[in-house]
Amino acid sequence: MLAFRHNLTAKAALSSMGSESRAYLQLQPYSPPKWAEALKKIPKQRFSLATLPTPVHRWTLPGAEEFELWIKRDDLSGMQLSGNKVRKLEFIIAAAKAQGHDCVITIGGIQSNHCRATAVAARYAGLDCHLILRNSRALADEDPGLVGNLLVERLVGAHVHQVTKEEYVQHGSMALAETLATQLRAKGLNPCIIPVGGSSALGTWGYIEAFREMQQQAPDSRGFTDIVMACGSGGTTAGIALANYLSGHKARVWAFGVCDDPEYFYSFIQGLLDELGAGSNKIGATARDLVTCVQAKGGGYAISSSAELQFMQHIAQSSGIILDPVYSGKAAKGLLEAMSSNPADWSGRRIVFLHTGGLLGMYDKLPQLQPIVGGLGRSHRLQLDAS
Ligand SMILES: *Cc1c(COP(=O)(O)O)cnc(C)c1O
Repeated sequence: MLAFRHNLTAKAALSSMGSESRAYLQLQPYSPPKWAEALKKIPKQRFSLATLPTPVHRWTLPGAEEFELWIKRDDLSGMQLSGNKVRKLEFIIAAAKAQGHDCVITIGGIQSNHCRATAVAARYAGLDCHLILRNSRALADEDPGLVGNLLVERLVGAHVHQVTKEEYVQHGSMALAETLATQLRAKGLNPCIIPVGGSSALGTWGYIEAFREMQQQAPDSRGFTDIVMACGSGGTTAGIALANYLSGHKARVWAFGVCDDPEYFYSFIQGLLDELGAGSNKIGATARDLVTCVQAKGGGYAISSSAELQFMQHIAQSSGIILDPVYSGKAAKGLLEAMSSNPADWSGRRIVFLHTGGLLGMYDKLPQLQPIVGGLGRSHRLQLDAS
């Protein structure tokens, strides 16, 4: 039944793109939805890297069975588990190619999903890739190893430049990227800098488009009343919230922040809205009206408590959905807590949780996961009949 429905909605989404199927790894002309035509920085091209549309299906969160919950599977967006980042990169890489760059630089934490997605996308597009990765002072001079995202980055031949957390805070991500860009230019290269998380005005279009796709996948014309997601650098939320506003859909948009704090996200998202020409002096969109940011960082960015990991294990066991420890796991936990503390606010609504990916981040947590998963006691020596 679900598979059948998905087939129908997938077809509807494809036909709305103007063709029956999307050619893969092609630079294609892009035209925005009607309701987004007044924006600035409209991309001219898109490089098809993602496997779209991603599925939408019903989902049961243990402890929230009474609510109508759906899940949008952007963890299945393709390109080596690239999650939400591949949608942003479709526009960012297209522009880098069109502008004649020969390599890209981006920056993030040592297990950044965005950096890994960029490394793969750049290779697909024939661009070299330089990553600036933030590590602890004790480790920044060592070989970064091959855990999780690093394995993929290094297999595709990305250049890894490590900085310490202190250097990152002191200089800021843009200045560090500029420093590396200057060094590469001196060698005759022409680098394109991609900001943290791919959360630029251009990257925002990835989630303006994802909103359009998701609307067409809702079970009926009522659509989804609530869209819930993890928020790390803000671009995914900005795109969804802006599209929701411009299209007049009026769902509630919830961003569960996994770092910084809600104040930071309101102002960062406002910056993107302004850059896209949607801010106060033109369309009048304000981040605070478009989205509700909720603090969900727990112990801090990329730090997992065993309660969080246990929660993820419980979800995996009950529904087969594997969330990630840094983003979607914390967001889903935040959602469950919000539902439990104020059920009236969520009942009768049709809620969709955007699964943004991040599976490889799980490998970074193996020591913490061992007692939880090993403790299930489901691993045994096969008993062979001796007779
Ligand atoms: C980057 C990332 C996010 C956050 O998206 P932003 O657009 O940076 O806010 C959420 N989930 C996963 C798995 C990510 O890698």
